[in-house]
Amino acid sequence: MRTCTLPLLDRTIDVLLWPALLCGCAFVTAIGIAHGERAGGFLLAYALLAVALWRLERVRPHEPAWLRDDGQMWPDLLHTAASKALVFALVVVGGSQGWFDLLRPRHALWPLHWPMALQVALALVIAEFGFYWAHRVSHEWSVMWPWHAIHHSVRRLWFFNTGRFHMVDTLRSLLFSLPLLLAAGVPQAVLDWVSALTAFVGLLTHCNVRMRTGLLDHVFTTPHMHRWHHAPNADEGNTNYGENLLLWDRLFGTWYRPANRPPPRVIGIADHVPDDYPGQVLAPFRWRTLQAAQHPRDRC
Ligand SMILES: [Zn+2]
Repeated sequence: MRTCTLPLLDRTIDVLLWPALLCGCAFVTAIGIAHGERAGGFLLAYALLAVALWRLERVRPHEPAWLRDDGQMWPDLLHTAASKALVFALVVVGGSQGWFDLLRPRHALWPLHWPMALQVALALVIAEFGFYWAHRVSHEWSVMWPWHAIHHSVRRLWFFNTGRFHMVDTLRSLLFSLPLLLAAGVPQAVLDWVSALTAFVGLLTHCNVRMRTGLLDHVFTTPHMHRWHHAPNADEGNTNYGENLLLWDRLFGTWYRPANRPPPRVIGIADHVPDDYPGQVLAPFRWRTLQAAQHPRDRC
């Protein structure tokens, strides 16, 4: 009896983990908002999710080999801190200087009368259009690739390297998505929800936790779908560009989920990226020199 019950329980946990963790984060954030603690609720949910994923990666790893130290914790942490600081500074400065108001429409376009959940869903779809093209351009336009290559140079996926983006790469993503939301007249409360959900989905997307996302893979950027995006060959890696949703991947033909095999265990890129943080920050500026010093392979 016990041998039958445990696998069933295990499979149930596999299926429920992704939606349960995301809904839990949304619930904590909503409680914070209801009590006038917008930032507090989000930060608490984000911290709880990070701790939960850290623990789950150890008790239910998707790929045990990815638990081994890759020597990249400091670069991961510094990229994350620098990118978050850049976004925070831009949002604060842009808001205080009235830059954002220049992009907002003069007439009310946004359906303020809709329930908040529907407004957030619509804003996520609009933001995703920007995220999608920013990401796709980074992969398929060789001029942009070196900035994004820092993120793809990891040899393992886990929650801690979610924010490993070159600052220029972070700026690119923000510039493709935020103006769209502002031009659509999205109110601040909805923008806050889009930011929060993007942060939660990002951590979940990169985590090394065993989950079954099944039908969710058709709609959301799940860990399973994002592991294909980190495949070492460009044919498979230049897919699943969505940040939160895979709607635009569906529409533009880049949704990719082979049914007959799991995502690759060996991830990374053939391009040479230095191991140290200063070297990684400077790498895009001296990309050709760096690659010429190694044995370059084509990647578009
Ligand atoms: Zn990418």
